[in-house]
Amino acid sequence: MHRSLKVLDEVRGLLDERRREVPLPTKAEALYVEPTARKEGRSCRNCVMWSRTDQCLIHEPSLHISGDYVCGYHSPGEPMEALPDRKREYVSPGLSGLVLVPGGTYCGVCRWAENGKCRALQEHGEPAAIEEYSCCARWAAR
Ligand code: SF4
Ligand code: SF4
Repeated sequence: MHRSLKVLDEVRGLLDERRREVPLPTKAEALYVEPTARKEGRSCRNCVMWSRTDQCLIHEPSLHISGDYVCGYHSPGEPMEALPDRKREYVSPGLSGLVLVPGGTYCGVCRWAENGKCRALQEHGEPAAIEEYSCCARWAAR
């Protein structure tokens, strides 16, 4: 075997060992949320902090944030028609994790979902059971 492939193999082995030593987070630790009644992905268009003017209550109003964005502060509910006219503090997109995800985030489109189980969360030492439209803070694009 080529030396660089052998080194890569060894690194993979070490990483697998490390993964076995460090337990995966539970659903509660990863802020797992059950599917909403409407069974849709989490996005700005179903967040209480979004305004239909394509702005968000907690980000700079100069940022154009369409309904296809989402961030770590998502809070399910009906959006506003317009932002309230008062001074407030803002978070940066880097801190909130603002990303464009058309269709929103949910287990069904997450890298870690596999046959109704999550490879990034555990329940009693086994991959956690999930539903198509549930979600959590560990969501990652495929
Ligand atoms: S950017 Fe985050 S907090 Fe703002 S509307 Fe979108 S999901 Fe909600
Ligand atoms: S599949 Fe993804 S979004 Fe769903 S619980 Fe697992 S990490 Fe979270």
